[in-house]
Amino acid sequence: MNPEFADVPPYVKPSNETLILSRFQAVAAKGLLRHALPERFGGYGDDFANLYRSHRSLGEACRDPGLMLMVNAHVWGALFPILLYGDERQRQQFLPPLLAGQWLGGHAITEPCCGSDVQAMTSCAERNDEGFVLNGEKRYITNVPLADWLVVYVKLEGKISAFLVSRDDAGCKFSRAGALDACQGSVTGSVMLEDCRLDGARLLGKAGAGTQMIQKALEYERAFVFAGIAGIMAWQLSEAVRHSRERRSGGVHLGRHQAISHRIADMKLRLDTTDLWLRECARLCDAGQRLTLASAQTKLYAAEAFLQSSLDAVQIMGAAALEQDSAMADLVQDALAGRLFSGSSEVQKNLIAALLGTGEAYRGSGLPGKP
Ligand SMILES: Cc1cc2nc3c(=O)[nH]c(=O)nc-3n(C[C@H](O)[C@H](O)[C@H](O)COP(=O)(O)OP(=O)(O)OC[C@H]3O[C@@H](n4cnc5c(N)ncnc54)[C@H](O)[C@@H]3O)c2cc1C
Repeated sequence: MNPEFADVPPYVKPSNETLILSRFQAVAAKGLLRHALPERFGGYGDDFANLYRSHRSLGEACRDPGLMLMVNAHVWGALFPILLYGDERQRQQFLPPLLAGQWLGGHAITEPCCGSDVQAMTSCAERNDEGFVLNGEKRYITNVPLADWLVVYVKLEGKISAFLVSRDDAGCKFSRAGALDACQGSVTGSVMLEDCRLDGARLLGKAGAGTQMIQKALEYERAFVFAGIAGIMAWQLSEAVRHSRERRSGGVHLGRHQAISHRIADMKLRLDTTDLWLRECARLCDAGQRLTLASAQTKLYAAEAFLQSSLDAVQIMGAAALEQDSAMADLVQDALAGRLFSGSSEVQKNLIAALLGTGEAYRGSGLPGKP
């Protein structure tokens, strides 16, 4: 285990909000949120390769997809959009406390009526003399209700726009409604906006630029959300190998049965291929090259690999993997969520095909443009 994160409090069932927040603050105190961000806002000014290595180390130590999801929602949902689209005043106000983990952030796109089909969102903003009035509902939002600030996407004059919304804003309510039974080391919840009045300084980026902003945020998220989970897959594999060497069946250790050893070989291949994709995304980011295709491929491959390896780990370990306090069965549940968050596997396939000039055009692909 990498000693850097060895003292991060482990995930315990049932999770509670105090522990969830304290673990996030513990990894923030170790500088996890400062990678690939400029020094003038408190970042390390280092590269995405370092970010990948650090997230992977944390995953291996904490073995908790929930904590990794929490970190990724904060980094790609709030930190990077503010860095990329915020004006100087917004960057000065938000980046230092978000980098330090004093504030927890995230982003709210999904609604009860629509997930994959982002353009179908119905939450809206109207202009008034003081700024904007927001109405609508967001669902399945990572870090709600603990988050201090969210980047919330709603339609303004028919086009998606982004707003900085605080949990203390009048007319805004964060709750655990619709909380998900997966990734329990994090929280998911709902945001109700009922005549939520915001001044003009809360608009993030240009009015109407929300579709491109979502695409950019999701590109980064898809590229790196499995960096920590690759660390978890490495731990999963080491446990499967250990078990296959210790437990005996038919007079030999389990690993001598080809049905078991081939599963282990497949797990190793999936892990290494996931790592290769993650490193490729880091390389593209560090070279300033486009990430759209590679991040969709990475998310698709890694999500499917994590689910299959989680199933294989349970099968290799037998009923012991399903004991109540075993992490292995929880990982299967978390891996199911991994095929949905940051855009489902089907949406990644749509996107890859659309980028190749074929497939079901753009709707559900996350790409801006006509359906
Ligand atoms: C753990 C977790 C954390 C999440 N965190 C956040 C968050 O922080 N912020 C946020 O905004 N959202 C978040 N989400 C929501 C997530 O983005 C959505 O679950 C996702 O976009 C899919 O939407 P949906 O669940 O409504 O499924 P739907 O869009 O209703 O899709 C249902 C099924 O149909 C398929 N499908 C839909 N459209 C197409 C199509 N065009 N072509 C082919 N197949 C299609 C999907 O792949 C899926 O299998 C989170 C979800 C999970 C599970």
